Amino acid sequence: MSADAGRPAFVDLHTHSTASDGTLPPEGVIEAAERCGLTALALTDHDTIDGVPAARSAGERLGIRVIAGVELSAFQGEHEVHLLALHLTHLEGLEKRLSELRASRYTRAQKIVDKLNTLGIPLTLDEVLQQSNGGAVGRPHVARALIARGMVHDFRGAFTKYLGNAGSAFVAKEHLSIEDAIAIAHEAGALAIWAHPGDGGRRERLELLIAAGLDGLEIKHPGHSSEDVKRLQALADFFNLVPSGGSDWHGAPDGSRRLGMMNVPLKWLERQDEKVASVASSQSAP
Ligand code: AMP
Ligand code: ZN
Ligand code: FE
Ligand code: FE
Repeated sequence: MSADAGRPAFVDLHTHSTASDGTLPPEGVIEAAERCGLTALALTDHDTIDGVPAARSAGERLGIRVIAGVELSAFQGEHEVHLLALHLTHLEGLEKRLSELRASRYTRAQKIVDKLNTLGIPLTLDEVLQQSNGGAVGRPHVARALIARGMVHDFRGAFTKYLGNAGSAFVAKEHLSIEDAIAIAHEAGALAIWAHPGDGGRRERLELLIAAGLDGLEIKHPGHSSEDVKRLQALADFFNLVPSGGSDWHGAPDGSRRLGMMNVPLKWLERQDEKVASVASSQSAP
């Protein structure tokens, strides 16, 4: 469905499905996008593009443009940085790299379970894998398994007590450098966008990422304060970075994150399209 004439068109460029730690299948995410009147949506599951074909066919059926993306977790020094690779086009080499990252997620889930067992919680890896059901496994699946066992009441409890950075069963991810993450995005023909930089999105760190090839900034995100948005917008303007934004929706029907809530203008997606086209034409030039 195209936007009604005169009505602003909105997009959402950060979402998760059951291919990783979201709760709705990819087609369910697109159906929700239709219900809230979005014209385009980027599926950006953690370390996987398995949801993209189903999202694409639902998008064709419902007249919603689907942008292929993936969210990578990387490190800039000791800072964990999430990177959105948006507008993936060359998928050949990408899948192999993503499958390695998913294998390390699996090993990490095992380590988290081992730590929980040491703490006297008799959770098994199978219970966690039942929650991820073949998708890229992450801490939210461990949280759901803990809730299912009645060990904690909710996500907040699971992350505060056990799974968050200060939790007693925290296990860091494998170290992927931000430079390598940006290279993965570029090799797949995608734009490299710094996801939810938040308060960490300051000039000094940003300059290092731009030197490594960063293309854009996620300005609008539910975790950002209005100060963050202002600062990130100014930085994007100053460094000529493409803007991005999204709800980081994981499928919850209510609560603080809702699909489309960030009112990301279609114009921002058009800026990204122009950037993708200019990179492609500079690469094909003799
Ligand atoms: P992982 O990729 O396994 O490190 O898990 C990261 C995901 O866990 C994020 O994308 C969120 O969906 C979720 N998450 C991280 N921190 C929290 C928290 N404090 N409360 C609830 N969910 C969280
Ligand atoms: Zn997530
Ligand atoms: Fe993230
Ligand atoms: Fe995300």
